[in-house]
Amino acid sequence: MANYQAPNSPVLARFIAPLTDAYSGSQRKYDCKALGDLDFLESGISRCVSAVTSGRDFLQQLADCVGKLFEVTLFFKALKSRRRLANLISVNLNVARLLRSRLADPFAEIGELSGFDIYAGDGHFHEAACHDPHKPKKPKPAKKKTNGERQKQAKKLQTGHFFILGMRDHHLRHYALAEPRPGGGNEHDMHVLKRKGAKTPEHIVSLSKISDLKGIEANEDGLTIKTMTTIDELFESLLLDDNFKVLRTVCRNISTQPIRNMATVGGNLTCRYTWTEMPAVMTGLEANMHFIDTTGQKNTLTAEDFYKNNAKTDKILTHVTIKRDKTASIVYRRVKKTAYVDIPLLSIIMKTSFKGKRFTNTKVSVNNCVAFAQRDNVLEDFLNTQDAREGLGQEALDHLNESIYDKRSSDYKKHMFRVSIKNAINELVEQQLTKK
Ligand SMILES: Cc1cc2nc3c(=O)[nH]c(=O)nc-3n(C[C@H](O)[C@H](O)[C@H](O)COP(=O)(O)OP(=O)(O)OC[C@H]3O[C@@H](n4cnc5c(N)ncnc54)[C@H](O)[C@@H]3O)c2cc1C
Repeated sequence: MANYQAPNSPVLARFIAPLTDAYSGSQRKYDCKALGDLDFLESGISRCVSAVTSGRDFLQQLADCVGKLFEVTLFFKALKSRRRLANLISVNLNVARLLRSRLADPFAEIGELSGFDIYAGDGHFHEAACHDPHKPKKPKPAKKKTNGERQKQAKKLQTGHFFILGMRDHHLRHYALAEPRPGGGNEHDMHVLKRKGAKTPEHIVSLSKISDLKGIEANEDGLTIKTMTTIDELFESLLLDDNFKVLRTVCRNISTQPIRNMATVGGNLTCRYTWTEMPAVMTGLEANMHFIDTTGQKNTLTAEDFYKNNAKTDKILTHVTIKRDKTASIVYRRVKKTAYVDIPLLSIIMKTSFKGKRFTNTKVSVNNCVAFAQRDNVLEDFLNTQDAREGLGQEALDHLNESIYDKRSSDYKKHMFRVSIKNAINELVEQQLTKK
């Protein structure tokens, strides 16, 4: 291997230390004796962070201040090497991997963002190098140009680069080189984004036009809610009896009438906002979610499993089914977030089947609005050992999976959770004790 000497400056040495690790895994290493890969990589970084204005000036400084002497022609030839570019790309990917393993993802806790990469991007234009070509000449103008205009026309194209910073791993990388605009001027950031990725899908299917995806059906076995059924249609349905009655309470509390007229059950379940209410409700009611993919392949998941996997899908949700349960006792509690835009701060659904006074097969499904719907198994296990009696709501507060309720919660929210849980259990108890 070429004789690479780490920089004398302790700061620079520390700054570029991860490079050695990243380089060791590069796909395109080559042991160049004249200008070693690590020297080349280090000099590239130094060039970016230095204040020199030209490549030759940089090499001069490198020789004077750092004691690294590179032959000018060799260095500029190396800049054009395809192998070195491939090596840079490989090293860069390895740096990203290293960062991911060493730095904590600051967005990991935000369930709404799970599955998304997040970037901050910016463009940077800088003056053309003295050896860059001039702008292509425009056709001769009819009018004679002033001196100022002539100078403007002779200007060289600026070089523009767009960079993106991964907000999850803090890895900064080059995204695109600006392309010259037909009428002159710099390429705009939005144009670059469109050029690079934002493609219009070949086929767009509007689910609202598929009549098979609309409607509610019920029989002795259960209830089927098709995905494009609106929240209002569900609320108005005459089929909501037995354990399905709770859906009327849920729908009534969702936002405002104009929203309920438009929002669909499928959208509420799959939109990946952690705060929508149907996910916890369907989890609590032990619903099944039915999907179909582009090849017509169908598959079914329990709502619980779907939200355990952070509600990720590349399929279409066609309908939801819930088994009929004539004996279940169900309560629902919801606290709104603000008085202005009605979205929930928290919601909770509890379902149990009383055997005599004993809670059995209890399901407690919680929406803490910052993570996807989940069950509180600690509370369920406690309740399943208890009889309906006064004071149970208060006692149950010592048997919670606190991590669900504490997650990004203010004292107010934690308090409202406890009030909601206590009242929900007391309501279940009362329903059972006053049953004739
Ligand atoms: C002001 C406001 C207040 C709200 N308040 C509440 C509230 O209090 N409680 C509550 O629960 N919700 C509330 N919502 C959410 C609302 O109920 C809707 O569920 C949500 O906005 C999604 O809209 P949509 O149903 O029209 O779905 P869309 O906007 O049509 O879809 C959302 C996304 O879901 C996915 N999607 C939709 N349908 C399917 C499908 N069949 N298969 C696969 N993917 C699909 C797509 O990725 C789509 O991009 C509120 C919304 C607003 C705007």
